[in-house]
Amino acid sequence: MLSYDIVVIGGGPAGLAAAIEAKKNGVNNILVIERDRELGGILQQCIHNGFGLHIFKEELTGPEYAERFIKELCEMGIEFKLDTMVLDITKDKIVTAINTVDGLINIQAKAIILAMGCRERTRGALSIAGTRPVGIYNAGLAQRLINMEGYMVGKKVIILGSGDIGLIMARRLVLEGAEVIGVLARGSYAAGLGRNVVQCLEDYNIPLMLRHNIVKINGKDRVESVVVVKTDENKNPIPGTEEIYECDTVLLSVGLIPENELSANLGIRLDRNTGGPIVNESMETNTEGIFACGNVLHVHDVVDYVTQESQRAGRAAARYVKNEFVTNSEYIKTKPGNGVKYIVPQIVQIDNLKGPIEFFMRVRDVYNDSRIIVKLDDIKIRELKRQHMIPSEMERLVIDSRLLKEGSIMTVEICSGGEL
Ligand SMILES: Cc1cc2nc3c(=O)[nH]c(=O)nc-3n(C[C@H](O)[C@H](O)[C@H](O)COP(=O)(O)OP(=O)(O)OC[C@H]3O[C@@H](n4cnc5c(N)ncnc54)[C@H](O)[C@@H]3O)c2cc1C
Repeated sequence: MLSYDIVVIGGGPAGLAAAIEAKKNGVNNILVIERDRELGGILQQCIHNGFGLHIFKEELTGPEYAERFIKELCEMGIEFKLDTMVLDITKDKIVTAINTVDGLINIQAKAIILAMGCRERTRGALSIAGTRPVGIYNAGLAQRLINMEGYMVGKKVIILGSGDIGLIMARRLVLEGAEVIGVLARGSYAAGLGRNVVQCLEDYNIPLMLRHNIVKINGKDRVESVVVVKTDENKNPIPGTEEIYECDTVLLSVGLIPENELSANLGIRLDRNTGGPIVNESMETNTEGIFACGNVLHVHDVVDYVTQESQRAGRAAARYVKNEFVTNSEYIKTKPGNGVKYIVPQIVQIDNLKGPIEFFMRVRDVYNDSRIIVKLDDIKIRELKRQHMIPSEMERLVIDSRLLKEGSIMTVEICSGGEL
């Protein structure tokens, strides 16, 4: 059996940053396992710019951002295995993986970092009626086919879902010569970042069709048309509003799901609001010595935050391996209150904190001129003003750890206008 101090599962930006940081913190024996043919994760197919604004103060493309970390990883001599799929992890930290060169491999790790990213929701999850013709793609798959494999997916396209991938692919398809009929959102606002609505749709005159949904896909061999309906304030179809749009391709951009089958099999507790593991301030899961970071933990919109969070996981894993980790039975729990969908981390062991602690959270709705209120056992400890908050933009919350008291519940809620 092979043996490593730290095994990182996933060679995307999360895995790369965690491995590099662990090495910088004194652990030499690290292995990164990646199932794809190269490192870099989803960034390799994101050839648009907009990456790295926070960390490098530069607008990089996805591959450029990834390259900086891949180069550093190689210069530091961190080992990695490509085309290698992790099949199983045990509580004793034995990782089972497979590839065509080594066959089935068992690796004993002292610590494991989960960095498997996320995958897209499919048509099956939406139950759209109709036949199963060629021409229905997930937006991320279409992005990979066009940007990495050199295949064009269609000529006349309709996109369901206004998340960032759908918006970016609308522009990409127009640039490649396709006609994009529109991007449909079931609700009354786009799910993606505001900057992507402007730069990907408005700049290219692509219609954003709010409160619309596809209810049926027609076509025998290839997609021929879709039936589109208007939706009410609860996103339900309004009968009698059906319209047929002719097209040869449907792109679905309807949400991402953290890739946690390995974690669930191992018995790692998952948060149903994030779809990722429940972690503490060190990004450690409920299984000692197993850490999680990046999109496997919760879906991020900006990769810079993935990097920062993963550096935190890498540092903690290194301290764990070096037996410097403070484990403390006393902790506080975080609780999403009114208007808050989730908060990460969910648990904070105060003895592990030296200075301020950063939380990531998402709101449930659109809020203007509002306040984020943080309470510890019903006593307000922090209030932050926000002009505009939307579910697609992750919020960061920095709290001075001296304000936190063991055994407490930290609730975060949103107050709009004069409420409170
Ligand atoms: C279309 C799109 C556009 C985006 N645009 C922007 C943008 O403009 N600006 C920005 O800052 N961010 C953007 N992002 C977000 C950013 O790319 C992601 O947040 C980031 O890539 C997440 O990093 P990750 O390492 O957690 O996951 P990933 O990049 O998904 O990497 C996870 C890796 O784990 C591997 N893996 C999974 N399971 C296994 C297994 N069992 N065994 C071995 N390997 C495994 C996968 O192959 C993958 O390489 C965008 C994302 C997408 C999808």
